[in-house]
Amino acid sequence: MDPELLASAEAARGFMPPDEGLALNAAAASVDVDGAFLEVGSYCGKSAVYLGAAAKAAGRVLFALDHHRGSEENQAGWEHHEPDLIDPAVDKMDTLPIFRRTIHDAGLEGAVVALVGDSPTVGAVWATPLALLFIDGGHGTEPAHRDYETWVPHVVVGGTLLIHDVFADPADGGRPPYEIYLRAMESGEFEEIGATGSLRTLRRISRGPAGPG
Ligand code: SAH
Ligand code: MG
Repeated sequence: MDPELLASAEAARGFMPPDEGLALNAAAASVDVDGAFLEVGSYCGKSAVYLGAAAKAAGRVLFALDHHRGSEENQAGWEHHEPDLIDPAVDKMDTLPIFRRTIHDAGLEGAVVALVGDSPTVGAVWATPLALLFIDGGHGTEPAHRDYETWVPHVVVGGTLLIHDVFADPADGGRPPYEIYLRAMESGEFEEIGATGSLRTLRRISRGPAGPG
């Protein structure tokens, strides 16, 4: 990975350990089918720099989708809350200004396009084939399974599906990301091609009759 972009990614706020970020970048850099990149759950832009670096190098676009109001687990009183991310004027979280600054400072505004909105709302009108999908949005049961159902059908054969915070042992973390990883594996449409920390990298090998395009 380009050293300046790596430095930007490591300096950015967020929830992506360095080894998993590098694995994310490597997976994106090795995508060899046509299509856009999309991540669900951008927060302050940390994973978007790892993925966006590869998108830029390949002349592709990374769509970085987030409503920027935080997941349940980012709200006050929860484990992953950062109080300075509250916009006092509306008393809600707002990570969009920091995301924009992160992408600007990394020099990635040409390669990373923010989609600001609710995942299922955007997904309902989405029609662009995805060469890479990274799922790291809401980690509750409903949001995680909904993201799976909304976005995975858009991944093309040969395309890459990355899921974050996959913990086989419940003692290590919540279940839903692990459950959607299992859904992908049990569908028979994906093979696992990498695992780094809680990041799982899968490749679509086939497409069931229900999928679009
Ligand atoms: N990938 C980030 C961390 C993402 S944290 C990093 O590298 O640091 C999870 C993010 O998912 C939060 O920013 C939250 O706002 C977003 N999110 C949760 N539910 C969402 C939904 N329904 N639609 C859009 N974004 C959502
Ligand atoms: Mg995560």
